[in-house]
Amino acid sequence: MNNTEKVNLLGLPQSALENFFAGIGEKPFRARQVLQWIHQRNADGFDVMTDLSKSLRSKLDESAVIQLPKPLSEQASVDGTVKWLFESGAGQAVETVFIPEPGRGTLCISSQVGCALDCSFCATGAQGFNRNLTTAEIVGQVNYANRVLPARPNGEPAVTNVVFMGMGEPLANFRNLLAALDLLLSDFSYGLSRRRITVSTSGIVPQIHKLGDECNVSLAVSLHAPNDELRNQLVPINRIHPIATLLDACWIYAAKRANRFITFEYVMLRDVNDSLDHARQLADLLRDKPAKINLIPFNPFSGNEFRRSHAKVIGAFQAFLREQGIVSTTRKTRGDDIDAACGQLAGKVSDRIRNRLSEKKTKVATA
Ligand code: SAH
Ligand code: SF4
Repeated sequence: MNNTEKVNLLGLPQSALENFFAGIGEKPFRARQVLQWIHQRNADGFDVMTDLSKSLRSKLDESAVIQLPKPLSEQASVDGTVKWLFESGAGQAVETVFIPEPGRGTLCISSQVGCALDCSFCATGAQGFNRNLTTAEIVGQVNYANRVLPARPNGEPAVTNVVFMGMGEPLANFRNLLAALDLLLSDFSYGLSRRRITVSTSGIVPQIHKLGDECNVSLAVSLHAPNDELRNQLVPINRIHPIATLLDACWIYAAKRANRFITFEYVMLRDVNDSLDHARQLADLLRDKPAKINLIPFNPFSGNEFRRSHAKVIGAFQAFLREQGIVSTTRKTRGDDIDAACGQLAGKVSDRIRNRLSEKKTKVATA
């Protein structure tokens, strides 16, 4: 059996790994041992798994591998942010960003190569959709970061929080997302609590309901506009799932997790969605709901004509929301010098992307 035919155990959550062991005539508890070796003890082969018999280790060698994502580059920002570009075949790559902050280490991971949803202010959207990442490729980003980054002062792995805010729409890769979440949550692998994992979506409503039923991690929703007319232009999926339907799904989701807040992301685009009238409409949508707003200063990228709102406009927008009793924050832009900020991730390895960007006419909305 050559390596491409072998099963990559990195992407198997407990139940799938138990099935794998049953298939080779082994007891299910082996799955728990192997999960710990791969995800907690950084094994990249079976030789080191000394609590497995020699014959089992050679059986594993014949049928399985532990294949990590292959880094093409690593860049470190002056602010401590680290960005990796991982190979994803056919001249494509995905990006992963580590953001250290006092008391936590957040890893921003990708779920797809490119994205089909084509939001008009997003570099990943401009690239178009290439393919879904496998579960191994999703979880592999966390596994890789924990291997190469120094452990925390208390000896724990570097990654304490995971946000699905890299490239791609996680809810459009639902099956692999769920398997990855299973691994992130399980005590035999990463043991992160639901609070420490955030799935960010542009608003695929049926999948929001499903996620609420199946897993119920923290949810962030890319709202970006307070009315359908404007949102239809900025976030085209809104034409299928308009704001009222989306918000209903959010409140149902929040109720399933004892009223924990949903975060609404709102990219601040100069003269497009940043007026006080927009803030008023936004407050009307979210007042008295389990909602907080995270304003994201737009991060420009080449070939796109939107501009970032002025700092004082963002300040006034946020102050207005707070006066209306809505918890709101403005995201600090991190890793600007290495193009690691939100929406700048485009896996810049191929000229194809640049070509597409220059062909594309930016749609500037003015509602
Ligand atoms: N597809 C998911 C998650 C990835 S994008 C989603 O859309 O929610 C993560 C966040 O970055 C989203 O809120 C997205 O709208 C935002 N974003 C995209 N392009 C951006 C840009 N150029 N500047 C700032 N934020 C951007
Ligand atoms: Fe896709 Fe999210 Fe970018 Fe929209 S903002 S194109 S959903 S990655």
